[in-house]
Amino acid sequence: MKSKKIPYGKLCLAFVCLCVFVAAFMLGFFLWPFFLPAAAALGGYLYIHWRYLRCPYCGTWENLERLHYAANHPSHCRGCGRLLEFDR
Ligand SMILES: [Zn+2]
Repeated sequence: MKSKKIPYGKLCLAFVCLCVFVAAFMLGFFLWPFFLPAAAALGGYLYIHWRYLRCPYCGTWENLERLHYAANHPSHCRGCGRLLEFDR
């Protein structure tokens, strides 16, 4: 059976979006226009997570922490128990 993989680049992109969101959100308290890129970054993160960061077999969502762990250690899906593999 062909093994399916989670795109590793998308995992990195999700982390970047999250960092941009946190930084822009904090700046937003001083200069309100920064709330706009914060909202865009959060939207981008949620889209990437929804679109790509799920089990390729059963579609169970994993949180970023678990995915990051799975990228470096053999890890199995909570839903179907298959090995989560990353395409890098
Ligand atoms: Zn699964």
